[in-house]
Amino acid sequence: MSNLTPGAADGTSSGRSTKRSVFRVLGVLLMGTALVLIGIAVADFFAAFSSDEFGAEPTKFWMFFAALPFFALGGLFLQLGFVGATAKYVAGEAVPVLKTSMDQLGVGRYPSGSTGSGPYCRSCGRQNDADARFCDSCGTSMSV
Ligand SMILES: [Zn+2]
Repeated sequence: MSNLTPGAADGTSSGRSTKRSVFRVLGVLLMGTALVLIGIAVADFFAAFSSDEFGAEPTKFWMFFAALPFFALGGLFLQLGFVGATAKYVAGEAVPVLKTSMDQLGVGRYPSGSTGSGPYCRSCGRQNDADARFCDSCGTSMSV
């Protein structure tokens, strides 16, 4: 039962093949190769077990391990082909976050505990709130 048509993938790329579509094709090919190798290995594994012959061992199970690099590489290519924009997106998101944290660090310019934007205390020099009637630090009246 071999219905597979070798020319099924023909005529899909007509000159406008981008790098991303190349990754997709390579990824699919590598994944397909890996699945075929795994299929052979598993089939041989079970064939050896169900064999009446005593001491029969699977002889093609190494194909399972040989398939792993194909599988990993195929997955990598598929990632590059389909979600390659993710890295750019993450980089774009990281910059505003960095800026925000830098702004937050900038708050440290003010002396600890001082939230004031108003007048400075005549007695101790501490900056108080604009509507403060007494100094936050020493209690001197701000209104006089
Ligand atoms: Zn004061």
